[in-house]
Amino acid sequence: MSGIMQGKRGLIMGVANNHSIAWGISKAVSAQGAELAFTYQGEALGRRVKPLAAEVNSDFVLPCDVEDLASVDATFDAIKERWGKLDFIVHAIGFSDKNELKGLYADTTRDNFSRTMVISCFSFTEIAKRAAELMTDEGAMLTLTYGGSVRVIPNYNVMGVAKAALEASVRYLAADYGPKGIRVNAISAGPVRTLAGAGISDARAIYSWNQKNSPLRRTATIEDIGGSALYLLSDLSRGVTGEIHYVDAGYNITSLPNLDRLRN
Ligand code: NAD
Repeated sequence: MSGIMQGKRGLIMGVANNHSIAWGISKAVSAQGAELAFTYQGEALGRRVKPLAAEVNSDFVLPCDVEDLASVDATFDAIKERWGKLDFIVHAIGFSDKNELKGLYADTTRDNFSRTMVISCFSFTEIAKRAAELMTDEGAMLTLTYGGSVRVIPNYNVMGVAKAALEASVRYLAADYGPKGIRVNAISAGPVRTLAGAGISDARAIYSWNQKNSPLRRTATIEDIGGSALYLLSDLSRGVTGEIHYVDAGYNITSLPNLDRLRN
């Protein structure tokens, strides 16, 4: 297969099923010739991820729970052994206790704050460090964030705080690895109906609000996000690093809701 990702090998972390944002990205980069490895969290998800990997001609599928550093190390050891090098990574991992994705942010517990930060933010730094060692011929790293990092979105709570820290990590990692020709960027996606998305209280109402009030009068699909990720992971964006790129049908530029709806 030929395409702009021909000859590039990448690790995709965060496919849970065919609704996952990471799956939209996998389809886009694979269609352009990328060779992919996947990780999955736990055997139940592994049973879903393996057939999806096969759809994009990959049999390189590894277990990895980012709370267990040994499994992160084992993932990168396996990549080093099989490929020797790496061209790109996608970190599409987030978690918080759903009991705290509702009500007041102020009620966040210390335990869930720490766990949310480790899984949803610090794991990107730990993965970036290991990936950078294998990016001997430049490279691209991509993580996923959400506008709840910069504005208050009802119920997003501690995830918003973790995403703010994740976005700051993108900038610091971009500065750390820029001299090696490694670029680090994030996509700030609008709401998508995924397993993780469903954990946020009132997710349906937030999704529908975005549909009605975004400039494009819809939400972004995993295919939309895949297209933007393809740009950020490919040489097309060679001059871009440390960027938070919104793929949200324009919702982030709005202030007032769509006034047509208030008039009718
Ligand atoms: P998803 O449920 O399909 O993917 C989330 C992934 O995180 C799953 O594959 C899950 O296994 C993984 N994960 C959670 N804890 C983990 C751990 N300890 N170790 C390894 N993997 C772990 O949902 P998604 O919406 O595709 O989420 C992907 C990313 O996109 C997340 O960072 C999420 O915050 C972000 N995002 C989602 C939306 C949305 O509306 N769905 C919007 C913007 C950003």
